[in-house]
Amino acid sequence: MGARIEHPTLYGEGAAGPALYGARCAACGRVSFPRQSFGCEGCGAYGEAMAPVELAARGTLLSFAFVRKHMGADIAAPFAIGEIRLDDGPVIRCTLADALDERALHAGQRVSGVLAHNPKSGADVLELRFAPEGR
Ligand SMILES: [Zn+2]
Repeated sequence: MGARIEHPTLYGEGAAGPALYGARCAACGRVSFPRQSFGCEGCGAYGEAMAPVELAARGTLLSFAFVRKHMGADIAAPFAIGEIRLDDGPVIRCTLADALDERALHAGQRVSGVLAHNPKSGADVLELRFAPEGR
């Protein structure tokens, strides 16, 4: 049995690695994430103006924070959350892969997405995480 994606409406396995599911405005070209059909955040166009697009899970790390104590049972601390500007435009927040060394992270570095098992969830569940490129 194949692995299940934790949030299948937000991301999945694309042709060239993990992809995030966004929408592009046909009127002005602005890309939004998550995918929605309410209307463009930039120009206000709505309805069919918002076309589904797959966004590459690649971008630039803008900032990050380490979580050393976490009360939830969904993920084990310590872990890091990063704010990432995707190459396609939107800024997202995502868990960073593994228990990263603080010295291995810096604002401005290239990061890309991986679909990884979270040991705290079911063994066959994959979640999107970002990791520094070239590690
Ligand atoms: Zn627009």
